[in-house]
Amino acid sequence: AIILGIETSCDETAAAIVVRDQSGNATIRSNVVRSQLDEHAAFGGVVPELAARAHVTWLDHIIAQACREAGVALDEVDAIAATAGPGLIGGVLVGLTTAKALAAALDKPLIAVNHLEAHALTARLTHQIDFPYLMLLVSGGHSQFVLVRGVGDYERWGTTIDDALGEAFDKVAKLLSLGHPGGPAVEAIAKSGDPRRFKFPRPLLREARLDFSFSGLKTAVRLQAEALAPLSNQDVADIAASFQAAVAEVVSVRAGQALDRFRAELPAEALNLVVAGGVAANRAIAAALGKVCDERGATLTVPPIALCTDNGAMVAWAGAERFALGAIDGLTFAARPRWPLDLPDMKVPMP
Ligand code: ATP
Ligand code: MG
Ligand code: FE
Repeated sequence: AIILGIETSCDETAAAIVVRDQSGNATIRSNVVRSQLDEHAAFGGVVPELAARAHVTWLDHIIAQACREAGVALDEVDAIAATAGPGLIGGVLVGLTTAKALAAALDKPLIAVNHLEAHALTARLTHQIDFPYLMLLVSGGHSQFVLVRGVGDYERWGTTIDDALGEAFDKVAKLLSLGHPGGPAVEAIAKSGDPRRFKFPRPLLREARLDFSFSGLKTAVRLQAEALAPLSNQDVADIAASFQAAVAEVVSVRAGQALDRFRAELPAEALNLVVAGGVAANRAIAAALGKVCDERGATLTVPPIALCTDNGAMVAWAGAERFALGAIDGLTFAARPRWPLDLPDMKVPMP
């Protein structure tokens, strides 16, 4: 099937054409992403109303470009998939309403995609991975472990009780005056820093539950920066490196615990950990995860970073997986600002 995917839930306006063949193999025919970084740069974060307006301005062009690059005409697609939540509601409405209009005008099925499900299934777009597997989603808005049992069948095993990991990177970058988005900037400067100079807290590390907490760590970083002010370049690099070492340790120890739970509950299954979300680009975190997986004989899959951050191909692919199971949605499907992955209505209806 040929699927058009539309993503507008945050600050990326994105559309893609993905083809899924009968045996489940995928081809990304196009994947066009327009990031709104410049629009929001002056504000140090995403401004929802500006994001929604930019989606209105750009989405038609991005969809046209995705079709052009794929060599696929709009009326040749078999279904139209769009993120229907969770996310900034103005943006979600732009993408979902556009998808509904296309579906109605072209008489094609609509697939309302949960953005988190799109992240959860991305590894299957690029790698041969069977269910069940464990997913770690670490992005600007989410930090959670999800047991992926099948399409539409998810169990959340832990989440952040305050900030998301990407958000923590962004806030640390802001207080070190490194700009936005913070993740890449913190990682770059951390390379010349000493990760052992500051012993930042490892929140919740001693607890058995699989939750994260990053706001106390962020505060510790702020207090350290204030105590040293004015900061030299070396101070900034050492703080960044020490912060990154703290989160890499927290994330990898938690991942080890999650893998142990997986092993205990699903002893017969292959041990697969997949990562999703923009923070997956971080080499220090990926290396720490790789070590934890090696120790347990688990396989770590990190999809290409362009597919880890928000994009249209992941939405098209989630749509393709649902479409293959006959799961399509009505044009009355409402956009959802919140939409936990483990709601019962995620389940694909049995034929
Ligand atoms: P969500 O997908 O949860 O709605 P989002 O759109 O903000 O949120 P992504 O686009 O997946 O999330 O990722 C962006 C986040 O990833 C930002 O917080 C950014 O700082 C972080 N990030 C990107 N590259 C790196 C890196 N190299 N190291 C750490 N964090 C990074
Ligand atoms: Mg984003
Ligand atoms: Fe996302």
